[in-house]
Amino acid sequence: AGPSGSAGGTGSATGFGDAGGSASGSAGDSGVRLRVDDPRRPAILVTDQGLTRGDGVFETMTAVPTKGSGSGSEASFRVRKEDSHLARLATSAEALEIPLPPAADWRRAAAAGLEAFAAGNPSVNAVVKLVATRGPEGAPGGGHYVRGGAGVGSLTGTYWVLVSPVSEGLTAARERGLKVLLLDRGVDSGLAERAPWLLMGTKSLSYAVNMAALRYAASQGADDVIFTSSDGQLLEGPTSTVLMARRVPQPDGSTGIELVTPLRSSGILPGTSQGTIFAAAQAAGWQLGYGPLEPSDLVDADGVWLVSSVRLVAPVTHLDGAKISQDPELTELLNGFLAEDREPGEHGPWN
Ligand code: PLP
Repeated sequence: AGPSGSAGGTGSATGFGDAGGSASGSAGDSGVRLRVDDPRRPAILVTDQGLTRGDGVFETMTAVPTKGSGSGSEASFRVRKEDSHLARLATSAEALEIPLPPAADWRRAAAAGLEAFAAGNPSVNAVVKLVATRGPEGAPGGGHYVRGGAGVGSLTGTYWVLVSPVSEGLTAARERGLKVLLLDRGVDSGLAERAPWLLMGTKSLSYAVNMAALRYAASQGADDVIFTSSDGQLLEGPTSTVLMARRVPQPDGSTGIELVTPLRSSGILPGTSQGTIFAAAQAAGWQLGYGPLEPSDLVDADGVWLVSSVRLVAPVTHLDGAKISQDPELTELLNGFLAEDREPGEHGPWN
């Protein structure tokens, strides 16, 4: 089981492997055995292509405690939007041609990790990260943590789930609002469709550029980034989707709300948060739109947000140093939409 009481937060890792299996199989899973482990212990081979080439895929989900808060009893957790994340993981893995254990195994692994996590962290939100790599180079099916053979087909990758507490910094940034820099991503908005080998719009492990952009923003006194294409379109944040809203007068004299996000064909990652928010906004009668958007659209908007599963809905206060309009009422409505946890339906194109 995972550790408890360590400085800097506790966590647990669930690997899919042969050693020390803990969870039994049930209908719909492949019978892969799971091992719950201490994430501070080494577990990956230095030949793993996820490490050496960023050749893998991942998902980051949030789990919220459902009982036990403050009562001394162990919390249990509900993973938010688990179906959407698993569907997107499968889409990413397919793009990279990495074989995946079935969704039921990932659910079991997440549940096992959360159970271990709950023992040391009774009532904090948890980050649940799912990772699949191409596995160790030159050792198909033969690596540490790798399960091949009967019952699981040819799973030659490396697979794990990591559960850790949500960082307080993220919550604070959300409450303060974000100063955002527009940064050139160096690609045009048609490139994703012309060049599928670039894996744009998949959640691959190759996030070094995204992290570098965030460090650059911090060096300029900003909190976050919105990437733009070389032909001037808005794309996405390094770890988030961009949303903007406008209040629009209706023919009957009332005021409606239009919620818009950048065009998906521009190679951005389809966001599970955006998908579920759009589904709820649609049910509430809002008008919805998918770009193309340009920086001037953000300046003219009534509110701009960066949204993601861990960050939730964070308002943007400044764009390239200039203050932009904020609407706390809309921020609250969007957070409420996200909390509804609706199936994204037509707004989840990875389905
Ligand atoms: N875009 C990128 C590049 C991301 O990395 C993420 C999430 O980390 C998102 C968008 C938002 O996706 P989600 O709402 O599914 O967390």
